[in-house]
Amino acid sequence: MTSLSTPLTISVIGCGYLGAVHAAAMAELGHRVIGIDVDKAKIDLLAAGRPPFYEPGLPELLTSATASGRLTFSTDIAAAAEATVHFVAVGTPQRAGSNAADLTYVDAAVESLLPHLSEGDLVVGKSTVPVGTAERLAAVVSGAGVGATLAWNPEFLREGFAVKDTISPDRLVYGVGEGDEHAESVLDAVYAAALAAGTPKVVTGYATAELVKVSANAFLATKISFINAMAEVAEATGADVTQLADAIGFDARIGRRFLNAGLGFGGGCLPKDIRGFMARAEELGVEQALSFLSEVDSINLRRRGRMVDLATEVLDGDVSGKRIAVLGLAFKPDSDDVRDSPALDVAVRLAELGAIVVATDPEAVETSRARHPELTYVSTAVEAAQDADVVLLLTEWKQYRDLDPAELTSVVSGRALLDGRNCVNPVVWREAGWTYRALGRP
Ligand code: NAD
Repeated sequence: MTSLSTPLTISVIGCGYLGAVHAAAMAELGHRVIGIDVDKAKIDLLAAGRPPFYEPGLPELLTSATASGRLTFSTDIAAAAEATVHFVAVGTPQRAGSNAADLTYVDAAVESLLPHLSEGDLVVGKSTVPVGTAERLAAVVSGAGVGATLAWNPEFLREGFAVKDTISPDRLVYGVGEGDEHAESVLDAVYAAALAAGTPKVVTGYATAELVKVSANAFLATKISFINAMAEVAEATGADVTQLADAIGFDARIGRRFLNAGLGFGGGCLPKDIRGFMARAEELGVEQALSFLSEVDSINLRRRGRMVDLATEVLDGDVSGKRIAVLGLAFKPDSDDVRDSPALDVAVRLAELGAIVVATDPEAVETSRARHPELTYVSTAVEAAQDADVVLLLTEWKQYRDLDPAELTSVVSGRALLDGRNCVNPVVWREAGWTYRALGRP
């Protein structure tokens, strides 16, 4: 039976953007942690204290956690046998040719764990899954016959803030099986520090916990697409969507956060999560309830097309043979993640139209190159802008927000900036002699 005296021994299965941070953070909080992944290259890096991806604060956290001796890594699932709490943090990508989530990795991870479970162990799902998955997997875990149980504990971390969000989450959600008080006690022991600091905790059944995660993402996606829909209307009327957002954002019921019009959302979560949610709603016969998410997705994707159109317009109707500098490739600043990145998508579309695209990003050049080796990548904004006919700012990294037009004026061929994130001051750029265009603004 699990001893609830902390520190606990924890396994984290799947050491990607979520799992690696979770493993290091749990060790930092004093638990003994074994990170497990099937990707040997990733595990080798992590074991050497080096993150396999860019996340601010993670290198320091990994160094300190591995040096403490509390954090180790393995490719062998048998290493989980030492642990009594097992977090499942593997990927749930969009299934090829469908909107639905691919649960192959979650199923395989749980299946591989079964022979290593002992009485009182708790398997804790962290991956984002379609509602109904936890109940199905709870039966798989109890079917192992050793007296282990399952909980679902969705994760809300934001890439770029993952370390802070994991150590001090804004809420904890435990989805537990009926009458499984042990699960709640174990999770309380795992998160003792956050709970002591006053983090709110919501204990629910499995279905609610699963829905909390996907509905939170659906809400955020809707908020972004709402303002981007207003940007479309602004473009047709000569209104300015950034002023509109400021003005409606003063209403506390609306709020200004997540109301920045621009190239829209991307990444390894929001797009596939709203699609997976729609697919699951259809299976459940409640597709009408989520039909609006299909429009949320369409509005979001239309922004990328609009950006390509804007570049075409500024380049007198034809991008072919023109030099286009792309600043920003990651789906958001402070990340190297280019999964479903709007910025990378726009760069690729322009290259497909015959433009000579020279792209840069402070951290996401290598992740972009792995997906699109056909693009030309350089290290800095100035190199990208060399002889460019137009400069596209597509991810709002601080170094691009703070760019002084003078840094680029002497190297570009045409002084035109297209601000895909509404993140620089148009007055400054126009005063420096640049054409400034942005989404949703005159
Ligand atoms: P990721 O692709 O970066 O990481 C997944 C990892 O799981 C990979 O390293 C992969 O090698 C490993 N893996 C796959 N099968 C395995 C197995 N059988 N055993 C051990 N390891 C295995 O994905 P991610 O971004 O970390 O997302 C993981 C889950 O967390 C997803 O469901 C995602 O929706 C959810 N989530 C992610 C974030 C985020 O910001 N990235 C935030 C909240 C929730």
